[in-house]
Amino acid sequence: MFRSIRLRIAIPFTLLILGCMLGMEVYLSNFIQSSYEKDLESKLADEAKMIGVVITPLLKADQPDLQSIDQSAKQWSKVLSARVTVIAPDGVVWGESEQDRLQMDNHYNRPEVAEARSAGQGQSIRLSATLNISMMYEAVSLESEGEIIGYVRVALPLSQVEENVRHLQRTVFGTTALATGLALFLAVLIANRTTQPLAKLTKAVEKLAAGELNASPLKAAADETGKLTIAFNSMAARLSTQIDDLQRERGKLAAVLQQMSDGVFIIDSSGIIQLINPAAEKMFGLNSDQAISKSAVQALRQHQAIELWQKCVSSGATEITDFETNHKVQVHGFATPLDPSLPGSILLLFQDLTRQRLIENMRRDFISNVSHELRTPLASLKAITETLQDGALEDREAARKFLNQMEGEIDSLSLMVSELLELSRIESGRVPLQIQPVSPLEIINQAVERLRLQSDRAELNLVIECPDSLPEVEADASRTQQVVVNILHNAIKFTPPGGQVTIGAAQKGRIIEFYVRDTGIGISQDDLPRIFERFYKVDRARSSSGTGLGLAIARHLVEAQGGIIWVDSSLNKGSTFTFTLPVV
Ligand code: ATP
Ligand code: MG
Repeated sequence: MFRSIRLRIAIPFTLLILGCMLGMEVYLSNFIQSSYEKDLESKLADEAKMIGVVITPLLKADQPDLQSIDQSAKQWSKVLSARVTVIAPDGVVWGESEQDRLQMDNHYNRPEVAEARSAGQGQSIRLSATLNISMMYEAVSLESEGEIIGYVRVALPLSQVEENVRHLQRTVFGTTALATGLALFLAVLIANRTTQPLAKLTKAVEKLAAGELNASPLKAAADETGKLTIAFNSMAARLSTQIDDLQRERGKLAAVLQQMSDGVFIIDSSGIIQLINPAAEKMFGLNSDQAISKSAVQALRQHQAIELWQKCVSSGATEITDFETNHKVQVHGFATPLDPSLPGSILLLFQDLTRQRLIENMRRDFISNVSHELRTPLASLKAITETLQDGALEDREAARKFLNQMEGEIDSLSLMVSELLELSRIESGRVPLQIQPVSPLEIINQAVERLRLQSDRAELNLVIECPDSLPEVEADASRTQQVVVNILHNAIKFTPPGGQVTIGAAQKGRIIEFYVRDTGIGISQDDLPRIFERFYKVDRARSSSGTGLGLAIARHLVEAQGGIIWVDSSLNKGSTFTFTLPVV
């Protein structure tokens, strides 16, 4: 655009200059030609007069010596490099430098001669009848005692005149062209010099507009553009800082939204989703690319959330509601108008209550489990006491049996209480761990030793898989042994006779994985996630032999030593419990 405007101006401007130059050239050459001709005329006239002075004596004689006159014409012609003709008063040619005078016409009526006859001096430019070329003639009449005694005519071929003029014209034209070229070149150079800072400035502004903010400042020239450049530099610097600040703020906001566990939506006045964070995506099973700039009603597909938003739009105040999303997330939702910063827009915020609900459920379960576990031995104790009161006390034999039973119930009660206490101490981090290098094989061997008898009684094949070369782990030996015993005990308890229980350890990089694999009853997918909870037992009626605390204790002990514990299992095929400990 800018370039085409420049061209539109530059082309006519150059043409104008060239036209002026051409006009000047024509005028100059005309001027040169006419002044040259005038000069030549007077020169030729002077020469003719001079010849006249010299030749007059020859003409004055009664019988003019035509031979000498002709000779003289030829000599003068050589001296002056011009055609010289001497003509008698009656027009007969007496002397001629270029031709045989005898062959020549009478010159009485030649225009220059006729003019010289009447005015003393005549001049004409015409085609020579004798030589058949264009010539410039200058004739003067020679007088003696008031009478014309002849004429002297000097002539130059016009071709030579024209050649001289052309030469002059060429010189003038060349000089003018050179001068014009030089002037144009200088003009372009100066224009470039003055427009260069502006061009640089234009480029910098274009870059700025394209978002390139880190360009180095321009050098300010000492001329008029300098102030503009300085102003531009400070503007660019300020803009860059402001945009940096904005970007930093945006980054902070994005980081907060990204990390927030609450789901956030911003819905504008026309019901279009303008913002959605990852937590909200997860809660409502959305993808921000698909949801942003879409209608909230279409994208959300959750009538409680839409109702919450609409209620807030119509009331203009904060609204609250609780519901479960289509993706099984319990949420506590708030809707708040964002006036006046974003008029008409609504902020929807959803707190995930799933974990809170889970904890509430766990607490409820825990209380009911504890009461359940306590009720059985207590009921049994109550029954024994009643039986004893009802007379069994008198029967010493029966009384001893009942007392033994009571002792057993009290033992299991105190075991449960001590396990619970232990668990709560481990959970609250109040169990001091004596971390030191321990050999994995030693841990496994000692645990197996403790349970060998039980496994033999259960008719199980107990296999150890543990290479001697395993490095030592960083652990509390007795606590780790407790973990292994708890898991191994379960494996023995939940594997029918004839089955196999394998206990082993293997190195995986900087950790050792301990595993206990059995061919037992397995655990269903529904129960797997809850197996490490306190008091959780898959089959309450059948597994009355335990309290459901073994795995909870194991998990807490493993995690307290910086490891993790998990289980892979399939129903009726067997289970594998695995936990990790760091290598020394
Ligand atoms: P406690 O260990 O306190 O004496 P418990 O063995 O019942 O009682 P946990 O060791 O915590 O409790 O185990 C919880 C439940 O997980 C068990 O009741 C059982 O249903 C299931 N379970 C644990 N290990 C196995 C296994 N190897 N095979 C099948 N089920 C298992
Ligand atoms: Mg157990």
